[in-house]
Amino acid sequence: MSKIEWRQCKRKNRYRDMHAVNQYKKMCERSRGKKLDFYWCDICNGYHLTSLEATEANGYKLRMAD
Ligand SMILES: [Zn+2]
Repeated sequence: MSKIEWRQCKRKNRYRDMHAVNQYKKMCERSRGKKLDFYWCDICNGYHLTSLEATEANGYKLRMAD
C-alpha cells in the first residue's frame, strides 16, 4: 500500500457498498455543485468519494469500481 492511499483512507469517509456511496455522491454533487467520483479501496474494503479535479491534480490514478 502506498502512503498516499493510506492517508486518504484516514481522511475520507468510507462507504460500505455501492448503494451508500452513490447516495452520498448525488448528495454532495448537489450541495457542492461539482462532479464527484467514487472508487473501491482495498485497504479499508469500502468505497471513497473523490472529486474528479482532485484526482487529476494529484497526478495519480484511482481504480474505478466495477
Ligand atoms: Zn480506504
